[in-house]
Amino acid sequence: MKKKIALSLLAAGAMVVSLAGCAGGSSSSGDSGSSGGGDGSLIGVAMPTKSSERWIADGDNIKKQLEDAGYTVDLEYAEDDIPTQVSQIENMITKGAKALIIASIDGTTLTNTLQNAKDNDIPVIAYDRLIRDSDNVDYYATFDNYKVGVEQATSLLTGLGLVDASGAKTGTKGPFNIELFAGSPDDNNATFFFNGAMDTLKPYIADGTLVVKSGQTDFNTVATLRWDPATAQARMENILTSTYSDGSKVNGVLSPYDGISRGIISALTSAGYTTADIPIITGQDAELDSVKAIEAGEQYSTIYKDTRELAKVAVDMATALLTGGTPETNDTDTYDNGKKVVPSYLLQPVVVTKADIQKVLVDGGYYTDAQVNG
Ligand code: BGC
Repeated sequence: MKKKIALSLLAAGAMVVSLAGCAGGSSSSGDSGSSGGGDGSLIGVAMPTKSSERWIADGDNIKKQLEDAGYTVDLEYAEDDIPTQVSQIENMITKGAKALIIASIDGTTLTNTLQNAKDNDIPVIAYDRLIRDSDNVDYYATFDNYKVGVEQATSLLTGLGLVDASGAKTGTKGPFNIELFAGSPDDNNATFFFNGAMDTLKPYIADGTLVVKSGQTDFNTVATLRWDPATAQARMENILTSTYSDGSKVNGVLSPYDGISRGIISALTSAGYTTADIPIITGQDAELDSVKAIEAGEQYSTIYKDTRELAKVAVDMATALLTGGTPETNDTDTYDNGKKVVPSYLLQPVVVTKADIQKVLVDGGYYTDAQVNG
C-alpha cells in the first residue's frame, strides 16, 4: 500500500511540475480535449464557498484537469448556503451531468439530491468532505484527516518547546495555558481533526503540562459553525475577557483552519498581544495570508494540503468511472458515512512552519516567491 501511495505521489509530482506555479495551478497546457479520453461529457463540480482561498484553488484545479482530459465542466460555488448547493447539484443532474464531484457544505443534507443522482445513474465522488447518510456516495477523495489533527497538535507541542523535531519530549515542564478551537460541527472532517489533536494533547493536559484555562474542551463548545473567522474571533475575545483578565497569558491555541487562526490573531492583537508574546497558533490549508502571518511570526504553523494533488485524485476517480475502470483507493475502512463505508483515497498532509515555507511551498511550486514575500 505504501508503494502505491508513493507511486501516486510521484505521478502527482510530475503533474505539479507541468503546472507552472501558483496555488490556482491555472496555467494552460494547450492540449485541452486531446489527451484524456474524455468525450466532452458534462461533469458537475460543486464547491462550498469562494470565501476561502483553498476552495477556489480546488475548483480551478479540478476544472482545468477535467477540461484537459476532454470533459466539459459545470463548476459552482454555493457561498456556504445549503439550499443553494442543493439546487446547484439538482441543476447539474437536469443538465445531464455524467458524474458529480462534491465538496459539501453540510455533509448531512444531500441525501435526497444524491438519490436523484442515483436514479439517473450518475456516480458521486465526495471531495475532501465526506457526504453522510447516503448510500449513493461512490468514492471519497481526501487527506488523512485524523493525521491532520495529530500534526496540528504535534506542531503546537513543538512550538511550545515540549517536543523536539524528532517528536521526542524535551523535558520542558510548563505549565502552558492553551485554548482549543474546532471546525464546523456539520463537516465530518472537523471531528477527525479534533480527535486526532486531542488524542495527542490529552496526556499533556492530564499531567498538567497543558492547561485549558477557560475549561472549554468538549467538541460542541469549541466548534466553529461554517468555519467562520468572525465567530472564532468573537469566541477568543470572550475567552480573553472571561479567563485572562487577571494578567495571565495564552501560550498556545489549537486552531483547525487558517481563517479561524486569522480571527484568533485579530482578537489577540486587539487585546495587546504582539509578536513578542503571541501564542503558538496552528492552522490548516496554507492560505497565502496565513503563510505571510507565519513569515511575520504571528502564526506558528499550518497544514499544507496540495489541492493540485487532491484534484488529480478526484479527476482520476471520475475518469475511471466514466471509462469503465475502477478508481484507485487506499482506505476501505475509515470513512463510514452512517450508511456505508465509502472507499477512499487518502493523501498525506504536510506541516509547514516558517522554516519550511521556501522549500515546501515556493520550491514546490504552490506559491511564487513574489506571492509569499512580495
Ligand atoms: C477542509 C479543510 C478546511 C476546512 C474549512 C475542511 O473540510 O478539510 O482543509 O480548512 O474545511 O474550509
